[in-house]
Amino acid sequence: MQDSVVIVGAGQAGAQTAQSLRQGGYEGIIRMIGNEPHLPYQRPPLSKKFLAGEVGPEGLWLRPPAFYETQNIDFIPDLDVIGIDRENKQVKLSNEDTLDYGKLVLATGTKARKLPLPGAELDGVLSLRGIADVDQIRPKLMDGQNLVIIGGGYIGLEVAAVAKTLGKNVSIVEMQERPLQRVVSAETSAYFTELHEGHGVKFLLQTGIDALVGETAVSGVKLSSGEEIPADVVLVAIGAEPNDDLAVDVGLDVDNGILVDGAGMTSDENIYATGDCTRFFSNRYGRSVRMESVQNAIDQAKIVAQSLLGEEADYDPLPWFWSDQYNIKLQIAGLSDGYDRVLTVGSREDNKFYVAYLKNDQLIAVDSINSPRSHMMARRVIGEVWRDALLPDA
Ligand SMILES: Cc1cc2nc3c(=O)[nH]c(=O)nc-3n(C[C@H](O)[C@H](O)[C@H](O)COP(=O)(O)OP(=O)(O)OC[C@H]3O[C@@H](n4cnc5c(N)ncnc54)[C@H](O)[C@@H]3O)c2cc1C
Repeated sequence: MQDSVVIVGAGQAGAQTAQSLRQGGYEGIIRMIGNEPHLPYQRPPLSKKFLAGEVGPEGLWLRPPAFYETQNIDFIPDLDVIGIDRENKQVKLSNEDTLDYGKLVLATGTKARKLPLPGAELDGVLSLRGIADVDQIRPKLMDGQNLVIIGGGYIGLEVAAVAKTLGKNVSIVEMQERPLQRVVSAETSAYFTELHEGHGVKFLLQTGIDALVGETAVSGVKLSSGEEIPADVVLVAIGAEPNDDLAVDVGLDVDNGILVDGAGMTSDENIYATGDCTRFFSNRYGRSVRMESVQNAIDQAKIVAQSLLGEEADYDPLPWFWSDQYNIKLQIAGLSDGYDRVLTVGSREDNKFYVAYLKNDQLIAVDSINSPRSHMMARRVIGEVWRDALLPDA
């Protein structure tokens, strides 16, 4: 039988796996099944230029349609993989078809975390993961005046920036003391809080929610304080959960993400996983990590392709990430958890500075604001620090 790789999920990581396999000379069958009706596309613009209407769907495509044909990648859209038969090495599709695989790659990404509150099912209560979500959010945003965003993470802040640019009233309800609390320092949070407040965004911090209210459509958000704020549309942006159910169902090792080794292999040697849906042990950080970033989706997919091509691979990246809000670009290099000191360098007034995170006097992460050079330098320097730490004789 001819060699074959079946890829479940046609997002950033799935598409990169297929592409890297072909680039690496793989000649077997590549089948990629995605449950969205679109060609593989990039998600970052969904909460930025695509939501703002500045780019259309084609502007999101990772590769033009002809690419999949010329590369002989059999892309099957709009179907779910609903089960795996590990013994017979087959996957079952939602149209009842089965497909054989030589090796299987799970690249299923994440789903938006649901709000476990009364009223969460009302019309106009939405989350943002894919093009279909933006297709729902945009008209509601255009028609209504009051947007309430639940969660002050990246997606919440990015949508707030777009909505303010469209002239809407925007409130962000956040349980923590400050936005982006889990991922950046108080200094970086303060900068983004002021940036948004300067554009008229209202933050309700350390604020819980009792319910979303309305008849059939949402009309307001009832806060734990008893106050009710008006809402024509509510964006639930409280984080994402890995799509690991397929793996759980067939007994693969899973722990809030499909567990993979440095080669991207799961606990079944014929099944690999890559991207947002995975968790792996990082020597760099001395703990297991699950990342939600384009960097991770691309780099881990390349590693999986390498492994499938029979080459040695060991994934332990220096993570990096970006976020665009108004005319500000935030770029983050490294993970900052465990830092004991920060240094702010540059001019906050000119919106061009960086925040360096230090741990035991070593640089571990840098947030760069409109400062791409410091971001690139940070990636190099932190990478070198780690390389020296991991290979003391290098
Ligand atoms: C609104 C938004 C903004 C973002 N902004 C940034 C940013 O600025 N910078 C950054 O670095 N990252 C950003 N990200 C994160 C980044 O987009 C993700 O990390 C990246 O897309 C992960 O790629 P992936 O292939 O693992 O998952 P995805 O891109 O989510 O692709 C997974 C695909 O698999 C499909 N799928 C799942 N289960 C099945 C199944 N059983 N059968 C068939 N198909 C299935 C899903 O529907 C999806 O199409 C953003 C994400 C979102 C949602």
